[in-house]
Amino acid sequence: MKSHSVLGVRFDAVTVDQALGVLDGFFTEKGLHLVVTPNPEICLKADSDTEYSLLLNSSDLSVADGFGILWWARSGRGFFKKLFTLFTPFLTGMLSPLPARVTGTDLMVEMCRRFSGKRIFLLGASRESNAKTHDLLVEKYRCNVVGSSIGSPSITDNEDIVGQINRSGAELLFVAYGAPTQEVWIDRNRKVLQHVRVAIGIGGAFDFLSGSKKRAPYIMQRCGLEWLFRLIIEPTRIRRILNAVFIFPSRVMRRKPSHDDDSES
Ligand code: UDP
Repeated sequence: MKSHSVLGVRFDAVTVDQALGVLDGFFTEKGLHLVVTPNPEICLKADSDTEYSLLLNSSDLSVADGFGILWWARSGRGFFKKLFTLFTPFLTGMLSPLPARVTGTDLMVEMCRRFSGKRIFLLGASRESNAKTHDLLVEKYRCNVVGSSIGSPSITDNEDIVGQINRSGAELLFVAYGAPTQEVWIDRNRKVLQHVRVAIGIGGAFDFLSGSKKRAPYIMQRCGLEWLFRLIIEPTRIRRILNAVFIFPSRVMRRKPSHDDDSES
């Protein structure tokens, strides 16, 4: 599988369908497979936190959650290439080394369709988001949801939550604690989650699927303007959004690409 790094974070060059194919394989293998969905904000966090960067890069599958990742994955070597990238976001679909944007929410929906027969556990988010997501998965996608918990990611709740997941026999675990907490939680428990084959951190996906938060209209998503919609409906996120929209590209522009930016495994 080809991959490409952005600010030191590895992204596997896969479409949603190809990601599902890779996940198929994970269910046939032993042990827990960590799936991550980094976005520009997560890349910035990883850029200033080596441990988190190593954790993301140790994942079994890493998909690009955001147009910004595809766009800036093109930036490459040299001032003029960077300048060209800056002014041609509309060429991203053709020129990016990453073939598609695979958001956590979209991937979760496709996973629920494909793996509806697997034993699924939903961890995190608010009581309302978690319960509504549970009902949606069961009623719309006919999923075999064997358990859910809104228990906190703190160490005091850890044993109780792990116990619930193990007793449920869950093979597929969706963790909605936000980054980096969800990846750190999965990594901390990867050896004690007995039946889980795939664990994925999906950020605010339960909030979107349950309708607690509205997702940007499709056309805004396609144009890379989901951030603008989110800014309008959640103005308190302004700092996070400015990071993703301005700080992330400026850091990528200033960064010298390394020889390991493209690799194949
Ligand atoms: N969350 C949680 N427990 C926590 C912290 C966060 O369940 O201790 C949930 C929160 O309710 C939300 C999700 O984690 O549903 C993350 O949302 P965020 O908006 O940070 O994710 P993003 O959409 O940016 O990926």
